[in-house]
Amino acid sequence: MKSICVAGTGYVGLTTGTCLADLGNRVYCVDVDAEKIERLNQGILPIYEPGLQELVQRNRRAERLLFTTDYREALAEAQFVFVAVNTPSGANGEADLRYVKACARSIAESMVRPIIIINKSTVPIGTGDWVANVVSQHLRQPIPFAVVSNPEFLREGSAVHDFLQPDRVVLGSSDQEAAAQVAQLYLPLRCPILITDLRTAEMIKYASNAFLATRISFINEIASICESLGADVKQVALGMGYDKRIGHAFLDAGLGWGGSCFPKDVRALAHMASIHGCHPQLLKAVMDINQDQRRRVVQRLRGALGTLYQKVVGVLGLSFKPNTDDMRDAPSLEVIHLLQTEGAIVKAYDPVAGPVAEKMLVDVELCASAYDTARGADALVIATEWNEFKHLDMGQIKQVMRQPVLVDGRNIYEPSLMRELGFTYIGIGRP
Ligand code: NAD
Repeated sequence: MKSICVAGTGYVGLTTGTCLADLGNRVYCVDVDAEKIERLNQGILPIYEPGLQELVQRNRRAERLLFTTDYREALAEAQFVFVAVNTPSGANGEADLRYVKACARSIAESMVRPIIIINKSTVPIGTGDWVANVVSQHLRQPIPFAVVSNPEFLREGSAVHDFLQPDRVVLGSSDQEAAAQVAQLYLPLRCPILITDLRTAEMIKYASNAFLATRISFINEIASICESLGADVKQVALGMGYDKRIGHAFLDAGLGWGGSCFPKDVRALAHMASIHGCHPQLLKAVMDINQDQRRRVVQRLRGALGTLYQKVVGVLGLSFKPNTDDMRDAPSLEVIHLLQTEGAIVKAYDPVAGPVAEKMLVDVELCASAYDTARGADALVIATEWNEFKHLDMGQIKQVMRQPVLVDGRNIYEPSLMRELGFTYIGIGRP
């Protein structure tokens, strides 16, 4: 049994801490948010993530998973400390490292024994060395430590599964012995473990997210061309995906990518490239295409309704993707903003993000179901492809709407079926 501290109990930290506890380690999760820790100590989770609640309960009962705001308590026995704090976008697109810095400082001031600091937060290339400097500056006594980069690839909505069954684990360090010790923690997962240097490990994370965002923007550009030329992008993506060199994943045309990672990570990579004399033209196009997806949907809605002024538009799905309550940089936010700017009255529903939406949205009527959202609406926009929306009684939905205009922002319905039902159907890249 290893003794581990995890700093930050958000989507990544809480999943990491809980899964490491489930693998038999003793884990102390530390967070600066006292309310979050108090609730976790009562067994209440701050986020919705399938399967996580049961795992937290089980490991708390076994006393392998503990929560505190006190770094000293959390680090007293720890041999490893994972940094999983937030790294949001700064004003110019750069990653804001203030939370990483505060965390590194707290670790330095509270550690009492040799430790391996493992960075899971997504951070600019070179941050590992910078963290080592911050820690050295704030150590209260000379205690040896090492820094290992261990970027996280889990997806919200399947975080527990992704942590326990990863495609790969990436570790980067100038201290290969420290990296090997971290690799031991992951051995039970039986996955490929790539050990490399710090900067390369940090870059693998950014390059992976930028590539996935590029695939989505690529298929969205193809979708626009399909719309003009009368082809069906769903079939195009299917046909492309059978090619083993291409594959089917991340080829769904729609409202574009969002969430707490892709937007900020693509921006941060482009920023890093620019300030180091590179010209990241592809990344810029990837971001532009993504913005356009939201605008185009609103344009097409305007085309269908004449004007959006005083029109009631129902938005189905608020989280940035299904199976999460995370609304950070969700496409729904931008679509709602654009609709409101044109004077539309917006109603919305999400199967789990309602409480988050209440804090984030202004002048939006939050409904209890998809049917309530459709009632009296001039148009309905599917912004997130929750499973629930794939099984709606669309006949009933049409009956309760004032005008049957359906914008299928995630291409989940069959256009011909929707037209048979009497909808004015607007998909993405579909004839
Ligand atoms: P989050 O906002 O959900 O959680 C961050 C947590 O860190 C919060 O609870 C916050 O209170 C806490 N925190 C802030 N400063 C702290 C400090 N000094 N000490 C202790 N706790 C502190 O963030 P997240 O979504 O879990 O992301 C964390 C990092 O992982 C980010 O860099 C992100 O880019 C990366 N990442 C996220 C995902 C994802 O799907 N969310 C996936 C892979 C990588």
